[in-house]
Amino acid sequence: MILLDGKKLSAEIKTEIAAEVVKMKATPHLAAVLVGNDPASEAYVAGKIKSCKEVGFESTLVRFEPSVTEAELLKKIEELNADDSISGFIVQLPLPKHISVQKITEAILPQKDVDGFHPVNAGRMLQNLPSLLPATPYGILMMLQRYKIDTTGMNCVVVGRSNIVGMPISVLLSRNAYPGNCTVSICHSKTKNLPAFTRNADIIIAAMGQPGFIKADMVKEGAVVIDVGITRVPSTATKSGFKLTGDVDFETVAPKCSYITPVPGGVGLMTIAGLLKNTLRAAKKEISY
Ligand code: NDP
Repeated sequence: MILLDGKKLSAEIKTEIAAEVVKMKATPHLAAVLVGNDPASEAYVAGKIKSCKEVGFESTLVRFEPSVTEAELLKKIEELNADDSISGFIVQLPLPKHISVQKITEAILPQKDVDGFHPVNAGRMLQNLPSLLPATPYGILMMLQRYKIDTTGMNCVVVGRSNIVGMPISVLLSRNAYPGNCTVSICHSKTKNLPAFTRNADIIIAAMGQPGFIKADMVKEGAVVIDVGITRVPSTATKSGFKLTGDVDFETVAPKCSYITPVPGGVGLMTIAGLLKNTLRAAKKEISY
């Protein structure tokens, strides 16, 4: 079993990005909009800002109270869209219930949409056109590529069909490209007999948010297992009182795998690498829309 080491790989990617940044005339600049103070969102945004510093990007954190109105948030997005010093920006999810995620996502200029969630980027991805890819699927692709994992003709089962992970990674892995050329099944909460799908998978991508759901008897010997799930579960073993847990029961599943990601230290760090790559691409105006 080989551990897919997101820490090592994301550090490599950051070094490559930093080497490009020093050659650029204008420093890439990422802005992050954070509404409220949800501890998980605070931690994600702090990680993103810290990573910007590591690669030599400028970064700006824009904070709002949870009571911010949708109109106020849209106004800030307009400002960020118009600000030439900002290469790209993200609005950290989740947002309070009174704010439409769809409206916010669609207000971001596609060329500044470094989370890759805008329907224009999603549509371009679907048509295999250059686009800013959603950061987590992008991170997974880089992981498969850099570990030289064979994906062609493989039977890939994606569990979860969200717009930010499950659906886009399904599209990307079924493209006629590398990594890609998989035969993909997309499973979800209405799937009948999920284990019958996962047991037949050469590659499993678990993106459900159900801690420890994928058990050893659901996985074929030699499978590649990518665990996207991150759930905070209470723990007496840590100072913070919680630990981050993936969707895969790592202890029992890992011995059966050819490759597996740990949680933490796997896809989460690759997501940040994906975001940094997108910001670099946005700063270079690599994609013409
Ligand atoms: P969503 O809640 O949007 O989607 C979850 C998906 O899993 C849904 O499609 C749902 O099915 C499916 N699902 C839930 N329970 C089951 C079940 N028992 N059997 C089969 N399918 C099920 O989640 P996200 O995609 O946003 O996130 C998924 C996980 O990944 C979360 O833990 C999240 O924290 C993590 N995450 C990690 C990232 C990283 O960087 N590592 C980045 C983004 C997310 P249905 O559609 O039928 O409801």
